Amino acid sequence: AKEAGRARMTLYDPAMDTDRAQRNVLELDLRMAIESGDLTLAYQPLVDASTHEMNGVEALVRWNRPGYGPVSPEVFIPIAETSGLIESLGLFVLRKACETAKQWPELKISVNVSPGQFRNPAFTDYVRYVLKQTEIDASRVTLEITEGYMIQNPQRTRQSIERLKSLGVKVALDDFGSGFSSIGYLRQFGFDRIKIDRSLVTDIIGDSRQREMLQATVALARALDIPVTAEGIETEEQAVALRLFGCDSLQGYFFGKPMTAEHINDRLQERREA
Ligand code: C2E
Ligand code: CA
Ligand code: CA
Ligand code: CA
Repeated sequence: AKEAGRARMTLYDPAMDTDRAQRNVLELDLRMAIESGDLTLAYQPLVDASTHEMNGVEALVRWNRPGYGPVSPEVFIPIAETSGLIESLGLFVLRKACETAKQWPELKISVNVSPGQFRNPAFTDYVRYVLKQTEIDASRVTLEITEGYMIQNPQRTRQSIERLKSLGVKVALDDFGSGFSSIGYLRQFGFDRIKIDRSLVTDIIGDSRQREMLQATVALARALDIPVTAEGIETEEQAVALRLFGCDSLQGYFFGKPMTAEHINDRLQERREA
């Protein structure tokens, strides 16, 4: 009788109903936001590690949900992935980022690609389409992909990366060191760049083991001749250390938080006047 009671309890859990209901509403709102163009992009500076001069930006999607306020992409990107919205969301981000970056010839533009987009066999076609439509120089565009799916499908991953690179865009491995990176694949995938995850950068000043881990990770990428960006730089000490360890490109609040296109314009303007 006790067992049966427990079974019934797991069958009906009101908290789960609420979760599911909230998720459904979130998904509906997200669908609407995509359709009515309510998503926006923020741009975070990428700087040269030696001069600290901005030489690129990463586009980061933003959603201000009516009645609720900003929702983190860490929350709504996974929902977009499981509800079939990721393709239209990704298309919006790529197009908007390329269009906007056209006015910044001195900058490269990085765009995040989620596994759901990357897995789609038509992905290369829509990248080609957006490049053509926006007339941006493909060599200025970097697509950032994370490793989750690659390890499971190394063969297909390598082909997809090759096809993308044949369009002239660059492909970077995002969040390196955060999960189940397999060093062995790194070289064969042909990444143009590696981005070291913020979690590896955070404690390097106080914690010598963390620092050694990070140093070893950067050294490894460099041994494969792959340039390295470090993200999540919040202090000058971190910036100095990461440059010494061999990163050629840095990103983080120390250099600038994600900001509007207008703010990027202002920065470029100041520089032109300087
Ligand atoms: P990510 O690609 O690793 O992006 C870096 C995240 O770290 C951004 O969070 C950025 O605001 C944050 N960040 C940058 N510098 C610092 C720093 O110095 N300190 C701290 N504490 N944080 C910093 P955000 O914008 O919330 O994005 C979170 C994640 O959501 C991204 O991680 C990316 O995986 C995903 N994402 C964002 N925009 C897009 C998009 O347009 N498409 C896809 N597919 N994913 C996106
Ligand atoms: Ca990224
Ligand atoms: Ca990252
Ligand atoms: Ca991340």
